[in-house]
Amino acid sequence: MVARRPLIAGNWKMFGRLAGLGELAALWDLTRQAGAALDMLLCPPAAYVNAAAVAARGTQLLIGAQDCSAVSEDSARTGEISAAMLADVGAAYVIVGHSERRSLHGESDALVRKKAEAALAAGLTPIICVGETLTQRQAGRVEEVVAAQVRESVPAAGIVVAYEPVWAIGGDRTPSVEEIAAAHALIRDTLAASFGEAGRAARILYGGSVGPKNAAEIFTAAGVDGALVGRASLKAADFAAIVLAHPAVR
Ligand code: PEP
Repeated sequence: MVARRPLIAGNWKMFGRLAGLGELAALWDLTRQAGAALDMLLCPPAAYVNAAAVAARGTQLLIGAQDCSAVSEDSARTGEISAAMLADVGAAYVIVGHSERRSLHGESDALVRKKAEAALAAGLTPIICVGETLTQRQAGRVEEVVAAQVRESVPAAGIVVAYEPVWAIGGDRTPSVEEIAAAHALIRDTLAASFGEAGRAARILYGGSVGPKNAAEIFTAAGVDGALVGRASLKAADFAAIVLAHPAVR
């Protein structure tokens, strides 16, 4: 079995300005020793993807986007950004199906799947987000909900899945290491059932309130190939601390 290369990804959401891209140079200064051991990715708002890709030149920092259109063809769709356009300006990855898009924009598994297909067609690696709400967890439905999201949202192997319990995002609560490991095993088994060994080989990230203080513990959870980080990706020092907490680097 080929070892999966860890991936630490940052999602800036709708934060940041052009001037803030200076954080990329600071981040690379702090993390260059990690470049041999793992992938580091930052996903700024779409408006800054091109500038971020330029700022990251000469480093191993990868740049991605936070969403893309489900439609691949150039067409009359005001406000939409195609995966091919994101690739054209330097993105290598794109997050799809983040819980904020699912809840605030009503994105369904079927739409997320189309976005992931469009990303793959454009040569981008989609990071497909799944995760249960607190109500679903309290009702004992984690396995049912997460497995269904994986089955319905993931179109093929060659993707990354981010397990992001909705209740753990943007707060200060995380699942236990055992709960994280169980969810990752479930996701891996579900991918394997759909796509065989190629599915089993997918990288699976944990996301939801990862920060410098808890990253090392989260990385001990079985099957966790890295993290998708929100707030703590905005400051180079915080994101670097998470990267450097990974056992592949330490
Ligand atoms: C996220 O929104 O993907 C996320 C994980 O956010 P935070 O790290 O801030 O909880």
